[in-house]
Amino acid sequence: AVPLVVAVSTSLSAGNGLLIRDRAAFERARNLDAAVFDKTGTLTEGRFGVSDVVLLGSMGETEALRLAASAESQSEHPIAQGIVAETTTRNVAYPRPESVRNITGEGIEARVEARAVAIVSPGHLARQGKAISHERLKALESDGKTVVVLVVDGEPLALFALSDIIRPESREAIDDLKALGIRPIMLTGDAEGVARAVSAELGVEEYYAEVLPDQKAAKIAELRRNGRRIAMVGDGVNDAPALVEADLGVAIGAGTDVAVESADIVLVRSDPRDVAAILGLSRATYRKMV
Ligand code: ADP
Ligand code: MG
Repeated sequence: AVPLVVAVSTSLSAGNGLLIRDRAAFERARNLDAAVFDKTGTLTEGRFGVSDVVLLGSMGETEALRLAASAESQSEHPIAQGIVAETTTRNVAYPRPESVRNITGEGIEARVEARAVAIVSPGHLARQGKAISHERLKALESDGKTVVVLVVDGEPLALFALSDIIRPESREAIDDLKALGIRPIMLTGDAEGVARAVSAELGVEEYYAEVLPDQKAAKIAELRRNGRRIAMVGDGVNDAPALVEADLGVAIGAGTDVAVESADIVLVRSDPRDVAAILGLSRATYRKMV
């Protein structure tokens, strides 16, 4: 009888847009007490557009965009895509960089026309003792905008603020979890101010910001050591180790192959409301079996 019930729930879940890759994890889902969400691409759509450019030195906006886009043309990060898209909007041509180096979860460095060009998070500069103290920075972040800094030959020359869209389903996804007694938590590599704004908008009371990619799994491990049973929901390459570390790893279907491969369950429709649906389905399935 056991395999039958599971088979029924599996086909039910397939109809609901869930792909269950690990049955045992699906069974554990009935006992979870917290669901940790990656921000970008999971609770938000992960499609950035440039909303503001703040100049910090003598370089003009078009030149700043040209150099930034040159470096970002070699990155697949959604921030990079947003900056490159802005060159199309403004009809700005940019050169191919001579070389590039990704700084995962922090930015990218490139050699462009023999200059050292970097586009990095304010947090990355702060850790190097080169914190940006511009008044607009905190205000943009409090608006929920992700800000990156263009640094050319060691000099910060511009801030690019990018806005992302919170998925329309995210608010309900959070409410559904609370109704099941599951605590929603947000985990992000983005700045504290952005995390605060987005979590407030969604009604998420617990969040961790400026968590570097290699620290995400450690954060999940820490939460589990404190006795919590955790679902981790993410979309990116960076999220894969955290998905593995969690009691239940859930990948957003539109995410990267690495995340999907590392997950116990895949949300085929990329709808964060399906997280609460899974936990409800697990409870309903295994209640019948005792
Ligand atoms: P999240 O946890 O929200 O998915 P990431 O770990 O991918 O975010 O990135 C964290 C931060 O690192 C971004 O908010 C941004 O400041 C910076 N960053 C990462 N990649 C890039 C890039 N290609 N260009 C500029 N900034 C980047
Ligand atoms: Mg992400």
